[in-house]
Amino acid sequence: MDQIKIKTGVLIEIENGAVKETSLGVMTAAAGQDIYALILGRDASAVNAPSVNAPSVNAPSVKDKLAEYGAGTIVSISGAEDLSAYPDLQALALASAVKEYNFETLLGTASATGRDIFARLAAILDAPLVSDCVEINIEEKIVKKSHFSGKTMATLKANGSIFLCTIRPNSIEPVAAATAGQLVEFTADTQSTGLIKIVETKKATKGLLDLTEAPIVITGGRAIKAAENYGMLETCAQKLGAAVGASRAAVDAGFAPHSMQVGQTGKTVSPKLYIACGVSGAVQHYAGMKTSKVIVAINEDKDAPIFSKCDYGIVGDIFDVVPVLTEKL
Ligand SMILES: Cc1cc2nc3c(=O)[nH]c(=O)nc-3n(C[C@H](O)[C@H](O)[C@H](O)COP(=O)(O)OP(=O)(O)OC[C@H]3O[C@@H](n4cnc5c(N)ncnc54)[C@H](O)[C@@H]3O)c2cc1C
Repeated sequence: MDQIKIKTGVLIEIENGAVKETSLGVMTAAAGQDIYALILGRDASAVNAPSVNAPSVNAPSVKDKLAEYGAGTIVSISGAEDLSAYPDLQALALASAVKEYNFETLLGTASATGRDIFARLAAILDAPLVSDCVEINIEEKIVKKSHFSGKTMATLKANGSIFLCTIRPNSIEPVAAATAGQLVEFTADTQSTGLIKIVETKKATKGLLDLTEAPIVITGGRAIKAAENYGMLETCAQKLGAAVGASRAAVDAGFAPHSMQVGQTGKTVSPKLYIACGVSGAVQHYAGMKTSKVIVAINEDKDAPIFSKCDYGIVGDIFDVVPVLTEKL
């Protein structure tokens, strides 16, 4: 017997004209369901750039990319105002789409944007929201997420007619599942004036990639010794297409800004590859990167705790090993 498909909306995030990889992962989380890719205030037929580093006019449109990853319907949502500047209007527009299409589940990325909009949406719809999940069973409305700085994994079941969930970036690998992908336009009922306007968005001073969404992260700990030595990691990061992170010890020492800190009181990352350079592996650091798919540690102390938490370890001085790694890359 055919499985009954659940109407699932997925909020798509677009950067530099391209669908973010993390949004494709969220679509894969909804694989097998009746997926509606929701785009706020954008033209989905516009050209898509395949990556930040290598834009191409031959790339598929946003619509085609979403169809390739399982979106049966691509909904381009507009409102009375320019939605992109107003988080509250974006939430109202999504709420309007939820009612129009009768979604049972609405998914997004646990990014800065996703966290903001979904919290507002949960309040508007009076619906249950679980943030930063690493696994989801849409039929059962059951999700898994880490609690207590990654020490335990909680299994949660949501009740309610609509279930809202944000997925941790990179926790689900995007898998293509081509559909015909029908593009529709929806004008949301957002007559009210936005209460908060985004006037300017500034990128973090360092790095091209968002730390929480980067597929590869290379982190420097206290051993980096000086702010300028992060240049060594940045050169390596450029070769890898990685973002650069820091431990709290490095941040406290003034070598890196707090926006680069990974860990319990910093950012949670879940890349495909995490390279820890001169990081001891304290539990508070591990809490922020333990769900990385592959962990590589470079440390001169063979007894450093990080070596019991990594997949590959190199015992050596980071100032010897990292330049060789960069050279090889
Ligand atoms: C409430 C609380 C919250 C915290 N939150 C965070 C957090 O969010 N993120 C975080 O990172 N920490 C956090 N900490 C701090 C945490 O406990 C550790 O102190 C911190 O992670 C240590 O950073 P580190 O590994 O860079 O430094 P260290 O522990 O000093 O380790 C440095 C490592 O570098 C190695 N080393 C030195 N020189 C070299 C070299 N030339 N080449 C190779 N290896 C070398 C050493 O062998 C050592 O293992 C928190 C602590 C508390 C109490």
